[in-house]
Amino acid sequence: MTTGSRREVLGMGAGLAAAGVAAGFSARAFAAPRKIGYAVVGLGYYATRQILPNFANCEQSRLVALVSGTPSKLEQYGAQYGIPRTHRYNYAEFDRIRDNPDIDAVYVVLPNSLHAEYTIRAAQAGKHVLCEKPMATSVAECQAMIAACRKAGKKLMIGYRSRFEPYNRLAIELARGGHVGPTRLVTAEHGFPIQPDQWRLDKALSGGGSMMDIGIYSLNAARYLTGEEPVEVSAVESTDRADPRFRTVEDRVSFVLRFPSGVQANCISSYSSSHNAYRVHGTQGWIAMEPATPYTGQAMTIRKDGVTAPRTLPPPARNQFAGQLDHLAECVLTGGAPIVAGEEGLADMRIIEAIYRSAAERRIVELKA
Ligand code: NAD
Repeated sequence: MTTGSRREVLGMGAGLAAAGVAAGFSARAFAAPRKIGYAVVGLGYYATRQILPNFANCEQSRLVALVSGTPSKLEQYGAQYGIPRTHRYNYAEFDRIRDNPDIDAVYVVLPNSLHAEYTIRAAQAGKHVLCEKPMATSVAECQAMIAACRKAGKKLMIGYRSRFEPYNRLAIELARGGHVGPTRLVTAEHGFPIQPDQWRLDKALSGGGSMMDIGIYSLNAARYLTGEEPVEVSAVESTDRADPRFRTVEDRVSFVLRFPSGVQANCISSYSSSHNAYRVHGTQGWIAMEPATPYTGQAMTIRKDGVTAPRTLPPPARNQFAGQLDHLAECVLTGGAPIVAGEEGLADMRIIEAIYRSAAERRIVELKA
């Protein structure tokens, strides 16, 4: 844990180190006895552009194995990252990771419908799991993943990288700490115009449309900014089924979450317009993030007592990708619980299912505690 005081966190000169306090994640690495070895499963865009390069920025994690169905990718990335042939696997051989003591954890970076299968097989092979968002395609799958990891005595963490990103951690601290007064309303919007011909547009592989893929950032932000679980949701969906991209998945969803304290969150999810922002409205002002959850370049503006000013933080020692990888490593090494464990992914999935139900049945859906 960092030792930043509350005054440091809330003061205009607040440093980055303090920003992790409320988020339950230390911005600084601890002195690890050894590095945790990861096998990365699925060598697509996110894995190869963001995850593999960021092992170089980790303090407690190292890349030790690769899993892919494409031999040329195993050859290319194996050579690039110095992974020996003995540590390169195809999907049919995946269960053999059980016999590789260098692999402590598996990072599942596959299309959503494969998350449950590979998480469960990894746990059964005796490995900890970091699984990409959305955790799976249904509540039932999320529950099965949690049960499998629990039975194997292994950690399960979901790839909610923003929880390891300094501006988002500061936003959590400020919002929950009442920096602009008690929160009354949160707005959150995420979307991008999706390109055709990809697995995200095939419900069998994605589990759903924009809501599963990008709207989940609005949902997750509403939950982490308030620190509350919604008690009801209402949603409206708009999809042009004549658009070939949207034969099986939804395009736009607007949803409203009502929280126990009375806070309301108005959220947008879209596959046909660009959004990446949220705003926390308190009784004395607001905290705005735009962009809020990109890979780099977050920007924060605060309006408090009639004064509007940007808020900037120094560059972090570890970026969100390395912070995420090292957090699971630290949990493995210390026996701690991930701040974004499987239960966090399950919580989002329960609400996503309720959002779909609300939109389909055109009614408010209550969420049980
Ligand atoms: P991608 O299409 O670039 O990569 C998917 C990989 O899975 C490809 O290498 C593909 O060959 C492989 N694959 C294996 N079996 C497949 C099958 N049956 N059908 C299709 N592909 C198959 O996708 P991506 O953008 O890398 O997304 C992968 C996962 O990572 C998704 O769950 C996505 O939500 C998540 N993701 C997270 C973030 C983030 O910021 N946290 C960003 C992008 C993607």
